[in-house]
Amino acid sequence: LVRLRSRLARSQNTLGKGLLNLLSREHLDEDTWEEIEDTLLTADVGVGPTQELVERLRERVRVLGTRTPEGLRALLREELLTLVGTDLDRVVHTEGGVSAEGEERPAVVLVVGVNGTGKTTTAGKLARVLVADGKSVVLGAADTFRAAAADQLQTWGERVGARTVRGAEGGDPAAVAFEAVREGIAQTADVVLVDTAGRLHTKTGLMDELGKVKRVVEKQGPVNEVLLVLDATTGQNGLVQARVFAEAVDITGIALTKLDGSAKGGIVVAVQRELGVPVKLIGLGEGADDLAPFEPEAFVDALIS
Ligand code: GDP
Repeated sequence: LVRLRSRLARSQNTLGKGLLNLLSREHLDEDTWEEIEDTLLTADVGVGPTQELVERLRERVRVLGTRTPEGLRALLREELLTLVGTDLDRVVHTEGGVSAEGEERPAVVLVVGVNGTGKTTTAGKLARVLVADGKSVVLGAADTFRAAAADQLQTWGERVGARTVRGAEGGDPAAVAFEAVREGIAQTADVVLVDTAGRLHTKTGLMDELGKVKRVVEKQGPVNEVLLVLDATTGQNGLVQARVFAEAVDITGIALTKLDGSAKGGIVVAVQRELGVPVKLIGLGEGADDLAPFEPEAFVDALIS
């Protein structure tokens, strides 16, 4: 929590502080509520959730007559938590299974997202967390369009002690994904993490490609997680991307990167609403340790601390 707070502090808690300052004004008049709305919108919370939050806060402040700083902070904390959601399944599911033939199966996690969002870095960091948890991991470099991506993933693999399966440059991403899972089964690995290509050249191209990767992988068993990596600094653009990916493949969780460099933490709320899928992981920097599970309480506390 301390680390989260310090990482978010530089950018994020302008949101919480701004809201608290506004709420603490002597007169909570119409202009002040509008400023509160603007503050939330600027932080990318999104129009619908912003209106909900403001309406509820307004009503509760009016009914309860809350005016003390502690009282207002507590109300804001509660309402922000409600907005972020405290009862969503935020576990990254990495429990393998057993095939019909009684053979052990690794869990399969697909990592998808537009290039540059931090997809490969997130896959690498996640591999590190899993290995530290005592799991054996195989990495699949299915981003065959960017040779550097496979090199980058392989470097992560070497660093954390995970084998990387890669294909020829320009080769079929689905073939690499299939091969990675095959290797995972052969090695009786616990988890296979597949880094996919994120070229948004054409929507249908992406949909066909991702859909094929998933279908091909599923020939060997279920896919446990499809994590969509989104760059928090891209704001509404990120939401448009998210929609395209969600049409291409069933997303089960969101990894929100670069929260350390963005004052727009409200995107957590907006993207969950947009996709109906929980944020499970957050990226707080470029370093190997800078991936954290998303915990609503810690997040909201960091915002308003
Ligand atoms: P990909 O093209 O989506 O695979 O993106 P990369 O994993 O290559 O990351 C793109 C850039 O974003 C790299 O310079 C990463 O170090 C950086 N990056 C990734 N995650 C984070 C994060 O959480 N915070 C910050 N500040 N940078 C990040």
